[in-house]
Amino acid sequence: MSKYSVNSNGYYGRFGGQFVPEMLYPNVDNLKKVYQEILNSESFQKEYKQLLKEYVGRPTPLTYAKRMSAAYGTNIFLKREDCAHTGAHKINNAIGQILIAKQMGKTRIIAETGAGQHGVATATVCALVGMKCAVYMGEVDIQRQAPNVARMKMLGAEVIPAMTGNRTLKDATNEALRDWISNPEDTFYIIGSVVGPHPYPDMVAKLQSIISEETKWQFREQTGKDLPDYVMACIGGGSNAAGSFYNFLDDESVKLVAIEAAGLGLDTPDTAASIARGTEGIIHGSRTMLMQTDDGQIIEPYSISAGLDYPGVGPLHSFLAESGRATVLAATDQEALDAAFELTRLEGIIPALESAHALAGLKKIDFKSTDNVVVTVSGRGDKDMATYMDRFKL
Ligand SMILES: *Cc1c(COP(=O)(O)O)cnc(C)c1O
Repeated sequence: MSKYSVNSNGYYGRFGGQFVPEMLYPNVDNLKKVYQEILNSESFQKEYKQLLKEYVGRPTPLTYAKRMSAAYGTNIFLKREDCAHTGAHKINNAIGQILIAKQMGKTRIIAETGAGQHGVATATVCALVGMKCAVYMGEVDIQRQAPNVARMKMLGAEVIPAMTGNRTLKDATNEALRDWISNPEDTFYIIGSVVGPHPYPDMVAKLQSIISEETKWQFREQTGKDLPDYVMACIGGGSNAAGSFYNFLDDESVKLVAIEAAGLGLDTPDTAASIARGTEGIIHGSRTMLMQTDDGQIIEPYSISAGLDYPGVGPLHSFLAESGRATVLAATDQEALDAAFELTRLEGIIPALESAHALAGLKKIDFKSTDNVVVTVSGRGDKDMATYMDRFKL
């Protein structure tokens, strides 16, 4: 057992746990009892690995970035989650959870979504297996993210607007939880990142760990060396980072670097850097770092990147940051935009704005010429073209 594994009560150090209303406890507890056994079962592994290969298109490439490497005077490898079906890593988790739902005999799926990316991944896998799907989305987000709303509808999902509070992600999450309490028998709740009450953070990390499983053998195959010196990933809730780090956690020579969204800057109120600017508290069922006022009200985060615009971070990352296992950096909107443009012009890869934050981290580290650096490109930039066109006056 790794010292970075979740314990049987769902904690990483003092972070994590299962802070849910009493009425939700049976649902969560039921999942906790079965998820490990299902994940480890031969039938699950067979179907999951087969879909990852034949539907998602895995393994995603590990690309040596030759011109970037020259520009930075080091060796940069890109883990290409942008090549996965639907354009990002989120599908790895959605496929895994729907197979778990099937094994548990569930017939209906619910999810919450902010920017719509997790909603699209969930609607996709529901279409794939033929399950009913309801996605809760803040009414304000529905207005802001019209293309993803259209995708979900075309895929057959019902998109239910959350009309309470600020009508954004937090409110959509509350509505989804309310639905789950009312429909405990037939409904499975697919959470989109390494957040929420135990066992979700651990379950999602394990489902995303395919990223580092592949990176490890691909790096060996390409370089003849055992381990890279750095693994870097952006961090919203933290699922692509958790998956990118997972199989390197016990390889202490590998430096793990997470990059948060600084928004307009860490010294401004317009930021989404929950570890740098947050304090400890409870959000969405677990104890972790989050952005809150002195009296515990959640502060609306801000980032140019909708996928990093989350007020908390998964409990694993709070623990990795506090224990010093991971280094946490932050990149501003402008730094991410510059990094996106640079990758596009040097390597012919248009990254998602989220992934551009990970790339912006490259400028903040003093690499040696012999270092091997893996950066996870969590998704592709198609969805961000309007922002790119606007900012670069294309
Ligand atoms: C959703 C999303 C993220 C942020 O979520 P994590 O759980 O932190 O990985 C990052 N990149 C892309 C492309 C996304 O869609």
